[in-house]
Amino acid sequence: MTFRTRTFLVLLTLIIIVEGTTFVAVLNATRSNFIEQGARELSLGRVIFDNAIDSRASELAVSVGVLASDFGFKGVVAAGDEATIRSALINHGSRINADLTFLVGRDGRVRASSRELPVLAFGSPFPFEALLATGRSRPEPARAVVSISDSAMQLVVAPVRAPDLVGWVAVGFAIDDVLAHRIQGLTNLQVSFVEVRRNDTRVLASTLAEGDRSGLASATTLADVVTEPRVIELGGQPMLGLRHHLSTGPDYNLDVVLGLPMEEVLAGYAPLRMKLIGIMILALALSAFGARLLARTVSQPLKGLAEAARRISRGNYRETVAVGSDDEIGTLAQAFNSMQQGIRNREEQIVFQAQHDALTGLPNRTLVNDRLHQSIRRSQRSGRPFSVLMLDLNGFKDINDTLGHATGDQVLVQVASRLERIGRDCDTVARLGGDEFLILLEDTDRSGARATAERLIDSIGATVAVQSMQIRAHISVGIACFPIHGQSAEEILRRADIAMYTAKDAEQYIAEYQVGQDEDHLRRLALVNDLRDALDRDELKLYYQPKMDLRTGTITAVEALVRWPHPVHGMIPPDEFVPLAEQSGYIRALTHAVLVKALSQVQRWRNDGLAMNISINLSALDLLDEKLPDIVEGLLSRYSLTGKVLTLEITESAVMKDTAYARGVMERLREQGIKLSIDDFGTGHASLAQLKRLPVDELKIDKSFVMDLPGSADDAAIVRSTIELGHNMGLSVTAEGVETDQSRNMLTEFHCDVIQGYLLSKPLPEDEFVTWMRGRHAGAVTPDQLALTHDDLEDTGARSLQSA
Ligand code: C2E
Ligand code: CA
Ligand code: CA
Repeated sequence: MTFRTRTFLVLLTLIIIVEGTTFVAVLNATRSNFIEQGARELSLGRVIFDNAIDSRASELAVSVGVLASDFGFKGVVAAGDEATIRSALINHGSRINADLTFLVGRDGRVRASSRELPVLAFGSPFPFEALLATGRSRPEPARAVVSISDSAMQLVVAPVRAPDLVGWVAVGFAIDDVLAHRIQGLTNLQVSFVEVRRNDTRVLASTLAEGDRSGLASATTLADVVTEPRVIELGGQPMLGLRHHLSTGPDYNLDVVLGLPMEEVLAGYAPLRMKLIGIMILALALSAFGARLLARTVSQPLKGLAEAARRISRGNYRETVAVGSDDEIGTLAQAFNSMQQGIRNREEQIVFQAQHDALTGLPNRTLVNDRLHQSIRRSQRSGRPFSVLMLDLNGFKDINDTLGHATGDQVLVQVASRLERIGRDCDTVARLGGDEFLILLEDTDRSGARATAERLIDSIGATVAVQSMQIRAHISVGIACFPIHGQSAEEILRRADIAMYTAKDAEQYIAEYQVGQDEDHLRRLALVNDLRDALDRDELKLYYQPKMDLRTGTITAVEALVRWPHPVHGMIPPDEFVPLAEQSGYIRALTHAVLVKALSQVQRWRNDGLAMNISINLSALDLLDEKLPDIVEGLLSRYSLTGKVLTLEITESAVMKDTAYARGVMERLREQGIKLSIDDFGTGHASLAQLKRLPVDELKIDKSFVMDLPGSADDAAIVRSTIELGHNMGLSVTAEGVETDQSRNMLTEFHCDVIQGYLLSKPLPEDEFVTWMRGRHAGAVTPDQLALTHDDLEDTGARSLQSA
């Protein structure tokens, strides 16, 4: 139910209650007023009734007085016998229209009667003795209303003197329906004479219809009507009645009941009531109409507010609520409007914050994404290209670390404002996060993008002044153009990013995306994931390549080379995944896995009687791990080995980074008896001075110098002098990449210590390597080529294959 309906119903109910009560009260008052008037009429009627009865009695008394003093009648009474007296009574009685005439003797007994009634039989006592007493004491005849033999009568008693009292003549005049009607004619009331004799009530005469008489006679009805007017029911018709006592006989009471039918009492009331009802209905209709109007005026603004609330919840804050009045509802409407305004402001603020960078106020990645999608649609329609520049500050981390974040922030703010100055209005300059910015160049092809990038480099490359400090902020810019470099927003963004990293790696300022880079990038990303899984599942394998002592011709050592059997791409060479492991942070795990495999292999070979030194390749990053010496020590003891079985190869370029840190790690490894070898020697431009400071045991001449040894005089010269240099510094020299007998012979001639290469064997899996060793043992090679004569190996107490 709506508020409006409810308000209306409440008001209507109130009105009905108030009006109804008033109406009933008014009706009741009016009705009582009519009834009171009726009662007054009754009281007046009683007086009139009394007068009428009285004056009739007086008239009768005169007639009876005349009769009593009639000479002839007196004579008959004085001398006559009963029959004579009786005929005289009848005779004289009829003359004065009496209904009953009788004579009472001086002794108070009936002497003769005009009618033969049992109570008036000869000699029976006169029933109304009080009348005789009154008659004696007063000159005029005594009179009373009595009941004789079931009839009401006005009885007049006069003395008969001849001249002395000889008796009393009593004359009765019937009180009958005729009289009642006559009185009704005077009073306009219903008149009923009622006799109550020993609980037996009878109506003796009445103006009422026969049926109503018995109703009136019922004791309860009559008892109600006392001296005050009451409403009584008579045969279904109510009547206002008044009971008036007439006389008391020896064994009865005689009353008259005056009645006024309610119909008459209320005759004027009915039309009045109709009028009142009419007025009430009119008032009710008017009030209902008013209530409706009021409910509407109250609910209408509320409806407006509810509508506004719905609108706001749908996110429409444009329309305001009309403020109609200055009452509470008006105030509420005003509050609504200011709430709506507040929500709108806050929403705009939130949207702005969601799409902009807090520090620089530039659009953020979210907004850039939107704009990129728009640009793509525009470009697809117009056919004109657009470009994206991805920018990154070089060395921003250093600024942050050395000068603090506050300074870093100010640099970013200044860079942002410079970028904005360079961009056109239609371009979007955004900050993607950290020191990464993006410029979306509308309607710009590759050459346009490059030109803008160059202007950027000039502008940003200038110093930035922060708190009186002059800071140089260099940037790298990657360029990607739609549609040639990518078809979707994600592709364009990723490829601009790749171009930017290319620029960084190549230490150029600007790089444009090269087709295919992304696929490489993605493949590498996928490989990194696979590599992590392979490490977790221990899927990497070690291959072993033998090293031969040139002086003795014995195989004294192997190099462990890692392999990755990839379920999809097949065997992946280490050159491809080791750099990935270095970049992605898995290199320590990889080195650890290789160490475990290699050392456990050495232990197994020893148990099989094969004593073997093993070389393991370390990455430059491993040297920065200060825990490496402890880890290696732990693994050696786990497999009950000493450091002498282990050679760690470190590329020349790695040791040349030569941080004090790396040297410390190397020294601690060497203290365990582990040999350190400089791998790929000759490619890293190590100086002699640097070389001298390094704690190493072996030089491994890079295979690029060795493989073509017989064919290149230059290589031969380099190899020969490198061997001499090594020997001069007290180092053992190994040549890798020995593929031909010729090479071996030359190396023997140069006094190289150890050779390694396809001439002996390619790197082999464990079982093939063992087979290969046994083949050497059994085949053309001299037995002492297999003998383990290396001093270090004797130290380990391993049995030689020869003695086995
Ligand atoms: P490297 O340490 O210089 O290893 C020698 C590489 O030369 C090996 O390639 C080997 O198969 C190859 N080789 C050996 N003899 C000959 C020959 O006569 N002729 C020619 N043309 N090549 C020969 P591989 O196994 O592909 O390893 C490549 C590089 O991967 C290694 O170069 C090493 O730097 C790195 N590497 C291999 N295993 C590991 C490892 O476990 N850890 C780390 N950090 N790097 C490893
Ligand atoms: Ca190596
Ligand atoms: Ca090498």
